[in-house]
Amino acid sequence: MILICGAGITGLTIAKEILNLGIKDIVIFDKEPDLGKHASGRNSGVLHAGIYYTPETLKARFCLKGNQLMKQYCKERGLTLIESGKVIVTKKETELPVLYELYKRAKQNGAEVELVDSKTLKEIEPYAKTYEKALYSPLTAIINPREILISLENELKEAGIKILKGVSFKKFINSNNIETFQGKIQFEYFINSAGAYADKIAHSFGLGLNYRILPFKGLYKKLRKEKNFLVKGNIYPVPDIRNPFLGVHFTKIYDGTVYVGPTATPALGRENYKMFDNLGLESLQILWRDFLLFMSNEKFRNNAFSEIRKYSAKKFYDDIKDMLENITIDDLLPSSKVGIRPQLIDIKKKELVMDFVVLKESKTIHILNAISPAFTSAFAFAEFIVKEYFMEKK
Ligand SMILES: Cc1cc2nc3c(=O)[nH]c(=O)nc-3n(C[C@H](O)[C@H](O)[C@H](O)COP(=O)(O)OP(=O)(O)OC[C@H]3O[C@@H](n4cnc5c(N)ncnc54)[C@H](O)[C@@H]3O)c2cc1C
Repeated sequence: MILICGAGITGLTIAKEILNLGIKDIVIFDKEPDLGKHASGRNSGVLHAGIYYTPETLKARFCLKGNQLMKQYCKERGLTLIESGKVIVTKKETELPVLYELYKRAKQNGAEVELVDSKTLKEIEPYAKTYEKALYSPLTAIINPREILISLENELKEAGIKILKGVSFKKFINSNNIETFQGKIQFEYFINSAGAYADKIAHSFGLGLNYRILPFKGLYKKLRKEKNFLVKGNIYPVPDIRNPFLGVHFTKIYDGTVYVGPTATPALGRENYKMFDNLGLESLQILWRDFLLFMSNEKFRNNAFSEIRKYSAKKFYDDIKDMLENITIDDLLPSSKVGIRPQLIDIKKKELVMDFVVLKESKTIHILNAISPAFTSAFAFAEFIVKEYFMEKK
């Protein structure tokens, strides 16, 4: 039996891909009683279109193809798909070189993008502001992540695949057995797609010992309803491309709500969604990792400074006010939407890991750092994992 730990988008799409090989003896287990409790159900719902990533990365290889496959999946099943496109705007002259670098990367990745001036920008996003130039990505789209998870779950169940909920990985026993908090499970092949806990599970198998998760909280606000007309699709800033975060952006979702976020604030736990939620002994270890990176890594230090400031409503507003006309601080309302990015760090190099990581050891595969754009990339990434790792080429 193929045993998959984690029923997020990564685990579900891998199961679908294995099923496509004609293998039905698959069991997926997840510690939660429902799907979408973590990153796969708490993201921006943006189908990215291959812009940010340097060409040699797995993110670059699978983002654009994943975008196409996810769109096809949504169309075939009548799921939400809003092909609204996106613009990346500049707030000041010094951001222009990064905008041009993004244009170059997008072209290298085969993505469809266009550099536009302020006049053309107004035709796409009438209220967006930019300094001279902006980047337009027509292929960026909006989906409803939970709808996709449910559709995949139904499809897999109909094909006879078991999805066990409320079953939590405890430890590796031997090459054919793991222990969960609910009992022992025997397997022939084990796939770890446990998101925020994927590093811990890999460690239990003796793998990826130089990796640890450092959680970053993504807080969102939303626009006052009366101001939703200011945004048609997605308005993104030019990010600091030395970090894997895309910056606080405006996204209009399927029900017309415009979310503004997410931040990338250091969090104190893998599931520390609210201020004092899910804290424990590990919070001290996380604080220590934050401290070490803060002291040794300038990119991290700059990010931490600028993101922590965004807890203040005024600083949050300052960050986005030059991207949109007619927006005031009172237009930004609190929102309960919050996600956690389980960002991988390499503790030897004292660096954030920028790309997805796949580890394989005998009949086990471990997927680490499935951070953004892993939702977008999921179908293409799953195809790659199954072909290149599961089918034993590597
Ligand atoms: C704020 C935010 C915004 C984002 N925006 C976008 C976006 O717009 N577009 C995009 O493409 N990507 C986006 N992402 C990234 C995307 O959401 C994730 O990359 C993707 O959802 C990861 O899926 P996953 O299945 O690997 O992990 P998860 O969705 O975290 O799934 C892992 C599953 O494993 C389970 N699990 C964990 N530990 C155990 C255990 N011990 N035993 C059993 N089960 C376990 C969990 O319960 C969970 O269901 C965003 C992420 C965040 C946080």
